[in-house]
Amino acid sequence: MVKTDWTPAPSDQGAKATKKLLVKSFGCQMNVYDAARMADVLAPEGFSETAAPEDADLVILNTCHIREKASEKVFSELGRLRRLKEERRAEGKDLRIAVAGCVAQAEGGEILRKQRAVDIVVGPQSYHRLPELVRLAADGPVIDTDFPVEDKFNHLTPPSEDRIRTRGLTAFLTVQEGCDKFCSFCVVPYTRGAEASRDVERIVAEAEALTRAGVREITLLGQNVNAFHGRGESNEVWSLARLIERLSEIDGLARLRYTTSHPNDMTDDLIRAHGEAAKLMPFLHLPVQSGSDRILAAMNRKHRAEDYLRLVEKIRAARPDIALSSDFIVGFPGETDEDFEATLALIRAVDFASTFYFKYSPRPGTPGAEREDHVAEEVKAERLARLGEKVEAQRQAFNRALVGRTVDVLFEKPGRRPGQIAGKSPYLQAVQADGPDSMIGDVAAVEIVECGSNSLFGRLTEEAR
Ligand code: SAM
Ligand code: SF4
Repeated sequence: MVKTDWTPAPSDQGAKATKKLLVKSFGCQMNVYDAARMADVLAPEGFSETAAPEDADLVILNTCHIREKASEKVFSELGRLRRLKEERRAEGKDLRIAVAGCVAQAEGGEILRKQRAVDIVVGPQSYHRLPELVRLAADGPVIDTDFPVEDKFNHLTPPSEDRIRTRGLTAFLTVQEGCDKFCSFCVVPYTRGAEASRDVERIVAEAEALTRAGVREITLLGQNVNAFHGRGESNEVWSLARLIERLSEIDGLARLRYTTSHPNDMTDDLIRAHGEAAKLMPFLHLPVQSGSDRILAAMNRKHRAEDYLRLVEKIRAARPDIALSSDFIVGFPGETDEDFEATLALIRAVDFASTFYFKYSPRPGTPGAEREDHVAEEVKAERLARLGEKVEAQRQAFNRALVGRTVDVLFEKPGRRPGQIAGKSPYLQAVQADGPDSMIGDVAAVEIVECGSNSLFGRLTEEAR
């Protein structure tokens, strides 16, 4: 039987919290979403959250496998937890350690061999089974890294309104998972599995529940969120644009965002939505990875640099003020100086508002890792620094250009100084302004007066005060 309702539990009081849980997340926003859902699934089992490992009865490391460094972090963290577990044992107490997420999926039982203090290994498609796995772990280590046929989302416990409130005024909502694109550098298709979209009804129910509990901004998540093709009530396929239109109807929800998108799935209706859907914020993270056609082909991206530039033109025609952001990988095998110059040229042509950039990290099992023409580490480092300088200058220029302009800010929390409140501009910039805490949760017009290195500073307009 499939449960279609996503009514949050009125509170967690039903389950007496007797144990403490710490979920530490690494990597992407989908892991942040998953970490919250793991805590929700374990709340009825009597687990309440703590931020201190020393207080925890169960620590879950929700891991990332995207680059080697991310995976390595997990094992150094596990070393620390093993020592904590030993100290606990000496006091006659217990600490259970779980490894969840993409490293768990990729390495499975190998994790138990590398670190024997681990009790549970659970993949990203199986964490709805955590209550059972925790019980089983009392008798010895357990591993669950299946890609189950059933949709895990249908088996997750909705959080209470109290729990949603403690997580703040902005929320993530996963609508799509997995990837069929197989870029030759990327582990995601192997760790998260094939692309799958959630049903529209469930997404709407979850968004409504979040909004009822006070959430004002929702970011729709997916590894390839714009490939969303969820089923509606009559089994018809919905596009992301249609989903955004439907979610825009929710009263009380002020803002919608989505991430991460693939250029090839940027459909005309989604581009149009940027011009038409008032709640959809003018910010788009659209990774291109490289500006060289040769490297794009080797990466199996299935688009050329020029296709990306044309797409950017179309998006800007629909929403002229849109802020664009991207991911770049430098030093993919075979990348020459000329290829790298083509990447810099694309960066100059687009003028990004913000950018993430990485040195290529060979990932076991991916075609890129098998190549023999790897770029030397020092060349990667030099290219990364050059690219970084360029995009950082673009980010600063984008921020500076806002000085003197008035933008809507969604205030999310108290600011750094007393009497200040902090929030985000439509373009995802952090903004601080003088104002009362009572305005937290409001969207108000702010005139930007100063630009810092990571925040903008502004004053509420006459009408907003
Ligand atoms: N689905 C998104 C897309 O198509 O661009 C991104 C998913 S991935 C979680 C986030 C970013 O990590 C990628 O855009 C890429 O820039 C980077 N990345 C993935 N694999 C990498 C690798 N092997 N080495 C370095 N960076 C990598
Ligand atoms: Fe990885 Fe490419 Fe899929 Fe993005 S589109 S998740 S980079 S394989």
